[in-house]
Amino acid sequence: MLIADLEAVLEKLAPRALAEPGDNCGLLVGDHDARVRRVLVALELTEPVLAEAGAGGFDTVLTHHPLLFSPLTSLVESRPRERMVRELIRGRINLLAHHTNLDSAERGLAAIAADALGLENVSPLRLSPAGWYKLVGFVPPDAVEKVASAVFDAGAGGIGDYEGCAFSGEGRGWFTPGLEAHPTIGQLSIPERTPEVRWETVVPKNRVAMAVSAYISAHPYEEPAFDIYPLENVLTRTGLGRQGTLPRETTVADLAAHAAALFELDGCSWSGDGGRLVRSVGVLPGSGRSLMQEAAGLDVLLTGDLGYHEADRAEGLGLALVNAPHGQLEWWCLRRWAETLRAALAGSEVDVETSETWRSPWNSAGGGVSPAQPVGDAAPAEALPAGDTVAGAEAIRRLRLRVDGGSRGNPGTGAIGAVLEDSDGRVLETVSRVIGVCTNNVAEYRALLAGLEIAQKAGAQELEVLADSELLVKQVRGEYRVKNAGLKPLHEEAMGRLRQFRRVSVRHVRREDNAEADRLVNKALDEATSAGL
Ligand SMILES: [Zn+2]
Repeated sequence: MLIADLEAVLEKLAPRALAEPGDNCGLLVGDHDARVRRVLVALELTEPVLAEAGAGGFDTVLTHHPLLFSPLTSLVESRPRERMVRELIRGRINLLAHHTNLDSAERGLAAIAADALGLENVSPLRLSPAGWYKLVGFVPPDAVEKVASAVFDAGAGGIGDYEGCAFSGEGRGWFTPGLEAHPTIGQLSIPERTPEVRWETVVPKNRVAMAVSAYISAHPYEEPAFDIYPLENVLTRTGLGRQGTLPRETTVADLAAHAAALFELDGCSWSGDGGRLVRSVGVLPGSGRSLMQEAAGLDVLLTGDLGYHEADRAEGLGLALVNAPHGQLEWWCLRRWAETLRAALAGSEVDVETSETWRSPWNSAGGGVSPAQPVGDAAPAEALPAGDTVAGAEAIRRLRLRVDGGSRGNPGTGAIGAVLEDSDGRVLETVSRVIGVCTNNVAEYRALLAGLEIAQKAGAQELEVLADSELLVKQVRGEYRVKNAGLKPLHEEAMGRLRQFRRVSVRHVRREDNAEADRLVNKALDEATSAGL
């Protein structure tokens, strides 16, 4: 299957015409003609997701939030978003985004949330504008079928599950051919009254030009008459959010608790009286404050990114609010939607998997699904609570990294060593190489950077870093300031890389407890010496 074929499947599941104005959906980076074998579904593209795609051999990443929203004016390695674009191109990884079109789709994220809540009599909170135009043509009766089939082939005439929808009525066309004209019917300068059919159909906005050109080509007249005008129609089965009724009345507080458990959220807050009985519910995964007006007739709106002022406004509307973490609720729904995609691709040998590395940028204390990310040794990876998962039941990849660096001469020829182990102490990968003339401290940082790189490529989500350089450890933990100008960029890069992990701890160990990394440094230096480098 090619990317273009995958796009056609996605267009059926989440038509791009449903996207909100200004959204950026579709193929953002890649090649329509590239082959697709493995698709990684993630809420958004982050460095860990990109590393996961590379390590897992994924040729395509499909995200909900688009990586590219505002135009890029450069593609520079040091800027994270731009670096990711470069990395996608380097790795020949295609990036697709399906955002508000997937929110609004008939079986999109909001529909999935409504379904999970058990809502009945479900309909969209805000119906999608159809984005249709009306094409009205005036055609001689014997040419109507030919013109109609050309216009339908150009993408006109679809309404819901029906194709080839149009209306015709008989009448008379009036015209007077000019002296330069070549009329199919009638004579120059003589007013003509001839039987014609007024034939009209609907055309999606993005097909108007093609439909008009098909109409003109298939029409027998030299100068076919037609009208095009925009319509205000809405679609009845698609749109932002969903509303419906719960099978049984419940309280706002119970609904919040139920939603938190059902959607595996850190927690939900609610506005107003928690004991208020509710039955009619609006739901929108993501940020739904713009739908408060539409939800005003309901008992409660469940969505994300609600703040103080929304609670105040909701009270005035007689509406209760349940505030759910934006990304977590979307991610739960997106993982369910990935099953829909998998089903749609059944038989195509395209493998669809959901990311194991995406995590919410928000952390909270006391609820525990998205742990804080201390750069310190506050929590050794093994001590994490057993139920600590983001992506449902998938296991967290916890690895240990031992690093060391040194130079003979300080400054002199330097080398780095790193050992990446799994949580059982099995060695996954090592680094042992010379890096040219440098100081001990530079070598220590370079060892850390090389180690973090292999840890990231190995898909580590939580990482314990052990180093015997007190300076390195204390600088990374923020206990020492970095004064040396040569170390500043290395420190900055290390901090950037450390932040890519869900949780990381950096600990100082005695040199004798870091023997293997130390041995790899000396091995590289010995080999360099014997090779005369
Ligand atoms: Zn979102």
